[in-house]
Amino acid sequence: MPSGPRPPEEADVVVVGGGVVGWSVAYWLKVLEGRRHGMRVLVVERDPTYSQASTVLSVGGIRQQFSLPENIRMSRFSASFLRNINEHLGVPNEPPIDIQFQPSGYLFLASPKDAAALEATVQLQREEGAQVALMSPTQLKEKFPWMNTQDVAVGSYGLENEGWFDPWTLLNAFRRKAVSLGVYSCSGEVRGFVTSAEDLMPPLGSEPETARIKYVHIHMPDSLEYQPVACAIVVNAAGAWAGELLQARGLPGGLRQPPLPIQPRKRYVFSWHCPDGPGLSCPFLIDTTGAYFRRDGIAGNYLGGMSPSEEEEPDPSDLSVDDGFFQERVWPLLARRVPSFESLRPRGSWAGYYDYNTFDRNGVLGPHPKLENLFLAAGFSGHGLQHAPAAGRAVAELVVKGRYESLDLQRLGWRRLVEGEPLEEDGVV
Ligand SMILES: Cc1cc2nc3c(=O)[nH]c(=O)nc-3n(C[C@H](O)[C@H](O)[C@H](O)COP(=O)(O)OP(=O)(O)OC[C@H]3O[C@@H](n4cnc5c(N)ncnc54)[C@H](O)[C@@H]3O)c2cc1C
Repeated sequence: MPSGPRPPEEADVVVVGGGVVGWSVAYWLKVLEGRRHGMRVLVVERDPTYSQASTVLSVGGIRQQFSLPENIRMSRFSASFLRNINEHLGVPNEPPIDIQFQPSGYLFLASPKDAAALEATVQLQREEGAQVALMSPTQLKEKFPWMNTQDVAVGSYGLENEGWFDPWTLLNAFRRKAVSLGVYSCSGEVRGFVTSAEDLMPPLGSEPETARIKYVHIHMPDSLEYQPVACAIVVNAAGAWAGELLQARGLPGGLRQPPLPIQPRKRYVFSWHCPDGPGLSCPFLIDTTGAYFRRDGIAGNYLGGMSPSEEEEPDPSDLSVDDGFFQERVWPLLARRVPSFESLRPRGSWAGYYDYNTFDRNGVLGPHPKLENLFLAAGFSGHGLQHAPAAGRAVAELVVKGRYESLDLQRLGWRRLVEGEPLEEDGVV
């Protein structure tokens, strides 16, 4: 593995994790630095090949159809950002960015039992400015003749700002721009911290209630050494491993409480070929059962999957795929919804990790309650790619300006974890 540049000895902000969220935070910090011109921002990424990073293993969807106003607003912010991506992330003398956005919309289907809830959510989405149409089974059948609407009571179809794009391109565009603005990066793993708690000599058996991180310890790939980097601020953008990062060496036990409830949850993606499938009119369809699929290009290829139930959660210790899950669980549901999928030909599969917040399946943003200079940007539970532009900006605002300016995301802060008040999102797929 190439070792890449060594980190500087000190940085104003150390961003742990070089996925789309980490690079978005770094980019926005440089955009917003203002009078703090010259802010030294370092992004630390342990795997330059991104072999397990959620960003590059995702299916690239963006939608406004969420049930929480904050999530709708973040998606709307991101949609506008992506529409003008070259104004934001273009770099002089470099090729323009084409994120290959496919504006095909999301289509959520509801059974009679769930119809009223879907309609209420659409009402909220419209109040937030989202263009979402409610469609009867007859209307659905007219627009999407390939669909079996037998058990469907209503569908909600996004008319703008919805579809999918290429995640790699967005990650690379953030990285290229941030580096052009002077952000440092290094390959290495943050494995420990030195905090101000070590300077204090509390009475035996007690710990300070709060502390600051003074150094991050980066384990370099080409040596046995740890490289200490002195820092003023740390941003935890370690994705599915954000919870694990807060168990690292050097953080006194009491300062780890409450634990950050973010863990990797394995999700399979299957791809298949079906020349008689829905074709160009295919949206990103979320079935009444939770199974989903979308078009993949224009040559009769599709991809999709389904989140397992709690009892079915696969072992997350590696990214192997259980193809039986497709054969037994997903395919029958797909074929019921789209009869032509009965004769689909499986092409391949992969697995990635949802950055799963077991508390309420939503991102956790903002300052840690006990580590005063640690900020969180993780836990998006399957919607972090599309929310990265907005979440990165929001966290950068907190760091640079001390408050949210573009979007008020306070409710997504730590407080709800401490107070035990979940902020549920119904639209986790
Ligand atoms: C199958 C699947 C489908 C998805 N579909 C969508 C979708 O359609 N739309 C959507 O918006 N989202 C989707 N997501 C979710 C989305 O991919 C994630 O929410 C998002 O990519 C999170 O970005 P991240 O930068 O936080 O995480 P990552 O991309 O995982 O980046 C985190 C990085 O941190 C690094 N890291 C971890 N610990 C350390 C450490 N101690 N030191 C240094 N580096 C460290 C890791 O190596 C990793 O590269 C999907 C996810 C999966 C798995």
